[in-house]
Amino acid sequence: MRLLLFGPPGVGKGTQAKLLAEEFQIPHYSTGDMLRLAVAAGTPLGQAAKSFMDNGQLVPDNLMINIVRDALTSPRAARGFILDGFPRTVPQARALTEIFRDLGDAPYRVISFDVDVDELIHRLSSRLVCPKDGKIFNRDLDGLGAGTLCPDCGSALLQRDDDKPETVRKRMSVYREKTAPVLTYYENLGLVFTVDGAASVDIVNREIKALAEEHRER
Ligand code: AMP
Repeated sequence: MRLLLFGPPGVGKGTQAKLLAEEFQIPHYSTGDMLRLAVAAGTPLGQAAKSFMDNGQLVPDNLMINIVRDALTSPRAARGFILDGFPRTVPQARALTEIFRDLGDAPYRVISFDVDVDELIHRLSSRLVCPKDGKIFNRDLDGLGAGTLCPDCGSALLQRDDDKPETVRKRMSVYREKTAPVLTYYENLGLVFTVDGAASVDIVNREIKALAEEHRER
């Protein structure tokens, strides 16, 4: 089970990736989470990535490709994985094709989340994250406010710096320019399944599971 979750920032990839990883008992690799951990720990990678992230820009391809290669070729990933947030450029997608080739032409599928961008900008600016367990909430949908507490662990929920309106607009324009062409790359390879990113978490989850099971049976 190797799934790449693809779509603009805030479409719900992280939420779905966490559910699927738990349901299928396989690792979830979120390049955004990996970078945030590296920034928090002050590692050389974190130091190199921080200013790009704070400005809503992409971290250079060579750094990203190395992190993802290490993750996907590790024994932990041998039974499958959910990859979320990578590839975000066509050179990253090409490098990933090479990595899959090195893994013996491992089969994989791309799940593309389709959604209206205005709706997304709104969704991103209302997103709150639990700093302790990484759970994602939505101010409107979950009836919460910044400074309120995580219903599960009681930590104060935060807004990510890059979810602030100015940075959100920058991230969307980077998405349109650099990341959207990745979808064409995978469409040409015939690997894309599309889900409705505006549907509820539950519906999208069921849709992806049905696609994944179908892919597993082949
Ligand atoms: P995310 O949580 O996936 O929205 O990622 C947060 C930030 O991390 C992005 O805005 C980028 O600065 C950086 N990032 C995450 N994944 C990648 C990637 N595949 N390529 C380049 N930058 C990335």
